[in-house]
Amino acid sequence: MELTDITLKEASRKLASKGISARELVAAFLNRVKQVDKSVHAFLSVYENEALACADEADGRILDGTSFSLTGIPYAVKDCILVKGAKATAGSKILENYIAPYDATVIKKLKDQTPVMIGKTNMDEFAMGSSTENSAFGPTKNPYDLDRVPGGSSGGSAAAVAAGEAIFALGSDTGGSVRQPAAFCGVVGLKPTYGRVSRHGLMAMGSSLDQIGVFSKTVEDCAIVFGQIAGTDERDSTSLPQPVPDYVNLLKEDLKGIKVGMPKEYFGDGMDKEVRKVIEDSIKVFERLGAIIEEVSLPHSKYALSVYYVIMPVEVSANLSRYDGIRYGLSLPGQTLEEVYYNTRSEGLGSETKRRIMIGAYASSAGYYDAYYKKAIQVRRLIRQDFVEAFKKVDIMVTPTSPNRPWKFGEKSKDPLLMYLEDIFTVGLNVAGVPGISVPSGVLEDGLPVGLQIIAPHFAEERLFASGHAFEKALDLKIKPKL
Ligand code: GLN
Repeated sequence: MELTDITLKEASRKLASKGISARELVAAFLNRVKQVDKSVHAFLSVYENEALACADEADGRILDGTSFSLTGIPYAVKDCILVKGAKATAGSKILENYIAPYDATVIKKLKDQTPVMIGKTNMDEFAMGSSTENSAFGPTKNPYDLDRVPGGSSGGSAAAVAAGEAIFALGSDTGGSVRQPAAFCGVVGLKPTYGRVSRHGLMAMGSSLDQIGVFSKTVEDCAIVFGQIAGTDERDSTSLPQPVPDYVNLLKEDLKGIKVGMPKEYFGDGMDKEVRKVIEDSIKVFERLGAIIEEVSLPHSKYALSVYYVIMPVEVSANLSRYDGIRYGLSLPGQTLEEVYYNTRSEGLGSETKRRIMIGAYASSAGYYDAYYKKAIQVRRLIRQDFVEAFKKVDIMVTPTSPNRPWKFGEKSKDPLLMYLEDIFTVGLNVAGVPGISVPSGVLEDGLPVGLQIIAPHFAEERLFASGHAFEKALDLKIKPKL
């Protein structure tokens, strides 16, 4: 085993017992980035000197006994989350040279424990996409097959963890952007309950859907990181004051008596046959662990994709109006103020971003508002209610994270609708606000990983960790990309 294969828990133990120094650990990861990132392209920027200086600081804390489980742990951050003094491009040309002036709340909370940021990761422009092909800086490659997409929009963060370039990473999930790339890259990916984590310092995409999430190698590692970033924040009025339990203490080894729902709408046609087989086998593992499997129904889930692709662009069109050539980033000259806007946005934004701004402006404009946006928020309530009702019968639900395997570059980028369809299993959770986690659940014949999505009621992330951990232990899947 190479040092860069290490889990957070093991690394933390080794650091605490002085079996290794934070500097050695961080140097190994920086070295790995040098070796593999030319082919993977997970990172948009790497902060080598800063990382080594931070590692020394972590070593100091370990020596004087003020260290925590994240002290000295190398991590990566999606480029739409602000880290003071580091670039934050959000994958867009319009922010190519933008430097974050302050830390996002999640970063501030992590920094209390002195983990070590290696760099900022690649993403679809402003988090719009499912493959990282919409990044202005070139796509990230799937570490399991460099001809295929890593998923998106947080593809860089997922690939960085899968390729051993970071022990954990942060991403954002508006419609699946943590869970789907996690599934495609064979790592764990969590989307928390809406309101569980502060969005302060996360560049807004769809403000009523966005949550910051975690990528890691194991469910336990995910629980460790999540415990540190969860909780309310006075700087985000949508973050809620529910107490944050000790997630690691609540992990389980068996699932005796746990009721697991299989939403029948998620197991219909249109799924890759081999993916279906892996998911069916995973459900047998739940049964072996003592869980009771029941079919449930989320009757309005067939509208989730349509609702998402109306609400999200409306919010996008409002949120992205701030990139006007005056306040942030790129600014191109013009004769009039309108020309400055026009020139800057025409040049600085990519085509998918422009498409969504136009759709959103249309769907929320006078005359169309009632037919589209208003209707979508009405149906949103019904979708949310479906989840609430289903959770009166079961403790958790399981579905595939994605209906298909990672596709080849270019295969779906010509037809936006084809790409949107890939989000079919993930968007419903964001629309409803419930949390979900993708856990590696097997491999296909061609060696590509498959993810199982576990869903819990609002603010019950501990159920995701407990069941995900038990499943992961029982499955004992040992996968690693050949790079
Ligand atoms: N793939 C979805 C989209 O393109 C989700 C993106 C996200 O979660 N940020 O909108």
